[in-house]
Formats: sequence, C-alpha cells, structure tokens
Amino acid sequence: MLDVVYCIAVDHDPWLLALAVGICCIGAFSIAQMAERARKSAGLQRIAWLFLTSVASGATIWCTHFVAMLAYQAKAPVVLDPVLTIASLIIAVAGTSAGIAIAISRSRALQAIGGVIFGGAIAAMHFTGMSAYRVQGVVEWHVGYVVAAIVCACVLGAVAMMVLGRRAGAGWRLTQGTALIVAAIASLHFTAMTALTITPLNLGEAALDAVGARALGLATGLIGLVVIVAGVFAALIDRETRGDAMRKLHFMAMNDTLTQLPNRAGFREVLEQRVARAKHDGRAVGLCMIDLVRFKEVNDLHGHQAGDELLAQVASRLRGAIRQDEFVARLGGDEFAAITTFDDREALIEFVDRIQASLLVPHQVGDFSASVGASIGVAAYPHDAGRTGILINNADLAMYRAKSEGSVAPCYYAAELDEAVRARRELATELKLAIENDELEVHYQLQADVQTREITGYEALVRWRHPRRGPISPVEFVPVAEQNGLILALGEFVLRRACRDAAAWPHKSRVAINVSALQLAHADLPRLFHEVLLESGLPPSRLEIELTESAIIANRERALHVLRQIKALGVAVALDDFGTGYSSLETLRAFAFDKIKLDRFFVQELEDSPQATAIIRAVLALGKSLSIPVLAEGIETEEQMNVLIREGCDQVQGFLLGRPEPNRLTVPEQRRAA
Ligand code: C2E
Ligand code: MG
Ligand code: MG
Repeated sequence: MLDVVYCIAVDHDPWLLALAVGICCIGAFSIAQMAERARKSAGLQRIAWLFLTSVASGATIWCTHFVAMLAYQAKAPVVLDPVLTIASLIIAVAGTSAGIAIAISRSRALQAIGGVIFGGAIAAMHFTGMSAYRVQGVVEWHVGYVVAAIVCACVLGAVAMMVLGRRAGAGWRLTQGTALIVAAIASLHFTAMTALTITPLNLGEAALDAVGARALGLATGLIGLVVIVAGVFAALIDRETRGDAMRKLHFMAMNDTLTQLPNRAGFREVLEQRVARAKHDGRAVGLCMIDLVRFKEVNDLHGHQAGDELLAQVASRLRGAIRQDEFVARLGGDEFAAITTFDDREALIEFVDRIQASLLVPHQVGDFSASVGASIGVAAYPHDAGRTGILINNADLAMYRAKSEGSVAPCYYAAELDEAVRARRELATELKLAIENDELEVHYQLQADVQTREITGYEALVRWRHPRRGPISPVEFVPVAEQNGLILALGEFVLRRACRDAAAWPHKSRVAINVSALQLAHADLPRLFHEVLLESGLPPSRLEIELTESAIIANRERALHVLRQIKALGVAVALDDFGTGYSSLETLRAFAFDKIKLDRFFVQELEDSPQATAIIRAVLALGKSLSIPVLAEGIETEEQMNVLIREGCDQVQGFLLGRPEPNRLTVPEQRRAA
C-alpha cells in the first residue's frame, strides 16, 4: 500500500496527475449519467445512449491512463508505439461498452457480471497501453501488484454497476456510482504502475522529453475532456428536457384545461397535504363541496359553449374569493371543491359564506344572465372525519342533503342527518354490484281464480339476499334502484329471467312482472320486450306487466304511448295496487287495462272495517262495468277468501294460496292452488 502511495506521490508529475484525476472524475460522472439514461430508455434510444456511454467510458479510461502515463516519470527515455496506443483505445471503448451493455439489465447478477467485464476492460486497456510504452531500460513486473490491480478494478467495477443499478435514491446512486468508477480506474492504474520497475539503459533512441510529454498529455487530456464533457451535457440536456416534459404532463394531469383550476387528482393531493400539515400543527381543515344547481339548464338551453363559459366564470369567481392559503379545484362537470385551514369555527363559517356569496351574483354569459345557485356541503377535519377519504365523503353527504332539500344555505355535515343518506348510497353501490354479478333472484307467487282456485298465472317478485345483511325487501331496494339509475338494469334482469323461466314451465302459466315508472319513461322499453320475447321464445300472450297508477300520472302521454306499444306486442297490462294512489277513473278510461289489482290494504281491513267491504264492492262493480277482471292481493285467511267469493271477485293472490317461491320447473301438476 505504501508502495502505491509512494508511486503516486513521487513518481508522477503533479500537474499532469491532477489533469488525469480531473478527467477521471468528470468522465466517471458522465458514465454514471449516461448509463442511467441508457437503462431508462428502450429501442433505438437505448442503443444510442449505450453508444455514447461507451465512447465516454472509453475516452475517460484511456485519457486518464494516457495522461497518467505521461505524468509517470520513468527515469529512463520513453517512446510510444502508435499502433498499440490506438489498440488500447479501441480495447477501452469495446470492452467497457460490452460491460455496460450487460450491466444496465435489471438482474443484480448481470449487473455484477457487466461490472467485472467493465473492470477487466480497464485492466486490458492499461496493460495494452503499457506495452506501447517503450522504455529504454529493463522493465520488470511485480506479479502480486498486477493481480491486485486487476482484482481491484473488477471488484470495484462490479460494485459500481450494482450501485448504479439500484432503484431508489437517484442523487446518492449517481454520487456513489461515480466515486466507485473513479476508484476502479485509479486503483487499477496506480497499483499496476507500482508493479512496474524500470532499470534505465540508454539505447540512444529518440525519446520523449519531459516538456514533450507534458504537451502531449495536455493535448490528449483536453481533447478527452471535450468528448467527455459533451457527453455530460448531452445527458444533462436530455434530463432537463425530460424534466420539463414531466412537469408539463404533471400539470396537465393535475389541472383542468377549461378552468385552469386543479382537477380531482390535484385536489386529492392538496387535501392530503393540508390534512397532514393540520395534524402536525394541531389545526383543522374545512372542506366545501360545491355543486351548481341550474348548470344543466344553461347547458341544455344555451349550448355547451355557454356552459363552458359559465364554468370558467364560476372558476374565476371562486379563485377571486379565496385567500392565499386557501384552495379551489374543479372536480369535474359542475362540481367544485374549496379547502381552508382554520382554528375556530367562526373562521370556517366566514370561509364558507365567502365562497357562497361569490356564486350568488348572476353570471353574464354572452347576451343572457344566468343565476346558477350552488348546493354546498361542508365537513371539517378532525371534527367530522379523521381521514381525507371520509372527509370527502362526509362533505359530499352534506352536499347531497343541501341538494335534496333545495337548500340555499350551505349544509354542514351532521352525522345523524347524513348517515341515512350514506346507508342508502352504500346500498346503491352494493345493489349495482349485485345486479352486475347476477346475484339477484326472482321468486314467483301464484295468482288463482276465486271460484275454481285454478292458477291463472304467477307474479315475478325480485329478491336480494345480501351477503351480510341477509334478505332485503324490494320495498327497500327498488326505490334505491330508482333513485340511482339502476332500475333499468334491474327491470331488464327481472324481465329476462322471468321470460326465460316461464318459457320452460310445463304448465304454460302466464307470468306477470312489475314495471317501474322510470322504466316506462324509457322509450326503448317496447323494443326490449320484443327482443326478450323473441330470445326466450315466450309467447307474448303469456306475459303481463303490472304497473302502478303513479307510473302513468308522472308522464301521462308518454307512458300511454309506451303502454300501447307494449300491448300491441300482445302483452297484457295490469293496474297494480289500485285503491291506494289516485284511483282515478280517468286512468281507467284512458287505457284498456287487462286487470285491476286491488291493493292488499283493503283485504287486510276486511274483517274490521265495513268501509273496506264497501270499497271492494265498488271496485268490483267498476271492473264489471268496464269488463276488466279484478284481482285482490294479500289474501291471508279463509274468512277474507269467503268475503271475496261472496262479493264476486275474479282472482286472488296471497299467502293463503302460496307465498312467493323460487322457480320450480318440476311442478307441472300444481294446477290447483292449495
Ligand atoms: P306488489 O307488486 O304489490 O307485490 C305484491 C307484494 O305483496 C309482494 O311483496 C308480495 O310478497 C306481497 N304479498 C303477497 N301476498 C301477500 C300476503 O298475503 N300478505 C302480505 N302481507 N303480503 C303479501 P314483495 O315481494 O315484498 O314486493 C313488494 C313490492 O316491491 C311489490 O309490490 C312491487 O311493487 C315491488 N317489486 C317487487 N319485485 C319487483 C320488480 O321486479 N320490479 C319492480 N319494479 N318492482 C318490484
Ligand atoms: Mg305487483
Ligand atoms: Mg300490488
């Protein structure tokens, strides 16, 4: 070791040595940089970066060696063999390029192997270069030092490539990688030079004098440096350009192009930061969810351009309303969010009022003035939620409450008020999955003729067995489906399943399915019926739909139009739950129903209330005069049955005759009710 230090300190020209070390450091940095770029690129770019890395590493190693060689004071006249000198340069470029090409793999083993080849190339270059170095004297090599030099270069080369191949900590990785490459080159060179002993002999050849050596060293070093520095700059420029592109992409990913406000992703990021900071500082974060009330109207009446203009104005109002440390974002559509950090509740209320006030003044869009209100829901960390996800959810729930109450004033999250909404939303999400995953079932309840008790048909009733909560009544989940846009999918499922089941029934009974008002509002319904009937092979005469009066009242003309189309297919139409809603004679006049289903409320009242008997009698008379058969629902006892027989009711349905049950193909003989 001391020999090596002695060799460095005494046997070398300090200026040329400094130049060699400088080249080595800058070159190693450039190798580390460019190898990184090569590793991260693919295809032609990878090959190009690999080429540049090889040129830079060949130039670094060779120049360091050559300048350090010239710095070496051999105490004997020296001449350089040009062929071998050039051969050593080629070895440096080719050897290191092979090593780096292998080392930029993801495999740790290949990184180590590539590093060993890289170290080996340094050694091969050095000893070829040394054989070009003709000294007028006797040259002896100390084998121990030669072996030590090669081992040092290979081991340090392997470690360098493995460090550069690490995934994390870009800054450290580059620094350590550079230092290790410098160590590999320098340890090889100086240990190998220590192995060399020269006994001078004057053979009278024209030798390189000290001044000449210095000039040659300087020239080589400078040219090498130019090549290497050019490589460094190429890598740095590329890095900057990529950085710019990444920043642009990040901006685009985090911001909304229409309003220039941060988007949902940007909002989440900032909310998370603010909550983390508030947690640290013991402060609170207020979150406002803002949903414009009449935006859709503007969009529909005045076109999308006006809608966009309005959104841009709302954004600029919100931007103007917030203070420096507050934040607004557009979450999508006409939904915005605002964030503040506060200490006392007054500050939160002041913030929310400021946001609300900014949206109250009508907007001037083109030649019309639009006054879009906003439903605002507010929740605060840590009072209403301990985590950002829940905070957003709770502010959303408060906003839904504001929306459903048509409230102009902002709604602050209140667990007792908003939990019911949450439960319904949760149910809606689960119902959506249940429909998608085919987890709903259809049960069938028989309908029978009162006099003969012959089965006249079956009503299809949807069933949902929730994995945690057990069976949930359609009275609970059908309205949820209606409010969350799931009713079309649910209705289609029941239609398909009921038609498929009924088509396979040996007893060829009629099947009745319930149709919701929202399904009826959908113009595509007759086409769907037609398609399902064709697909299932069920004759239209065996299908009946049941709908309540409210389904017709909601949009009378349209509903009647759709009903006529369905009836034209040959499908029967029954009026369900008659007697509870409007019970309007006008409805019965406007459409030729095939059946009236008397609500079970009247049958249940039969025993206690003479009025119920009177109403049943009236409805039966109405049915008779219009020639529409009447079916009484909810028959549970023989007494109720007897009254209905006496009053001349046509059909019945109820637990007395049979409960809704899963589809059973194997009961063809069940032609008579119990
Ligand atoms: P609905 O159409 O009036 O159906 C009759 C309801 O009365 C069924 O309740 C049935 O189980 C029940 N029921 C039948 N006999 C008796 C009885 O003797 N006593 C008592 N207490 N109840 C009886 P379910 O299945 O719970 O359905 C309730 C409502 O949910 C239905 O009333 C219907 O409006 C709706 N519904 C059920 N399935 C569907 C469907 O597939 N689509 C749509 N849109 N609505 C459905
Ligand atoms: Mg029904
Ligand atoms: Mg009913």
